[in-house]
Amino acid sequence: MSIRKDWDTYFMDIAYMASTRSQCSRRHVGAVLVQGKKLLGSAYNGAPMGVADCGEAGCMIVEEFEARVVDGKEELVRKQRCIRTIHAEQNLILFTDRKDREGSTVYVTDEPCWTCANMLANSGVKEIVYHRPYPKDTAKVAKLLQERGLVFRSLEAYEPPGGCVEPVQN
Ligand SMILES: [Zn+2]
Ligand SMILES: [Zn+2]
Repeated sequence: MSIRKDWDTYFMDIAYMASTRSQCSRRHVGAVLVQGKKLLGSAYNGAPMGVADCGEAGCMIVEEFEARVVDGKEELVRKQRCIRTIHAEQNLILFTDRKDREGSTVYVTDEPCWTCANMLANSGVKEIVYHRPYPKDTAKVAKLLQERGLVFRSLEAYEPPGGCVEPVQN
């Protein structure tokens, strides 16, 4: 009996492997660029090269208010976020060629934030596949990507490889 992994699982596993390189204690995100069945790049969230990362310098925390609907009423919730890192999707764009991205698929461990989705929408990528949801931006991200004509889907039944998953703090 074969237990061969399907392509979605295969590439998402590689994205999770990439995420283990991240030093940000708040969130480990990995992303890979795939053209056809070919892997053309991988990236994770981190500080620019040669600059102290969260592992050495600690996270750079900012507080923001986030609008959230609770029992039909909009409330402002205080949230903390680390802004030291370049997001995995942004690093992936920085380290791949435009011509490789045209018509490609990005597998990313976490649903892209608004800024990353905006950049991916203009990057030549035609499909984004993610695993863990990021509810804060999901409505506007889905609308944007639909408007732009990208395929946007999540792997709901997917299970990450053991040892790859850090607790995520939203
Ligand atoms: Zn951090
Ligand atoms: Zn992002």
